[in-house]
Amino acid sequence: MQPGRSQRLTAAHARDGASCVWCARPLDTRVPATTDHVIPKVKGGPSWLENEVAACRRCNGERGHRGVVDWLEECERRGWSPDVDRLVRVLDALAAAIDVRGGQRRARPHLDAQRRRLAKRSPSAA
Ligand SMILES: [Zn+2]
Repeated sequence: MQPGRSQRLTAAHARDGASCVWCARPLDTRVPATTDHVIPKVKGGPSWLENEVAACRRCNGERGHRGVVDWLEECERRGWSPDVDRLVRVLDALAAAIDVRGGQRRARPHLDAQRRRLAKRSPSAA
């Protein structure tokens, strides 16, 4: 059983640190945290801690339903410093969670494609 939404956000901060995964701004009362689904809900991404990262409202809103790697590359074009390592960790953990829990037949192929694209990027890109 998954914890509630605000508990998951707290857990994401504890796991990742309280910064926006896309623009690296510290999240605090001035830049409030929102929950961003790494695999978007419209692509079948589950509301699990393993599919959630903290992002600022601006990045979360501007990303919309874009896939992880497309939006990551857009962030880089804008001169931001997205946390690629965090995204790789979360996607790996999500794949492992799906292996254990099963299901997620819509999310899985999309997830696998995003992981392949991330793996093809230069490791020094971070
Ligand atoms: Zn941001």
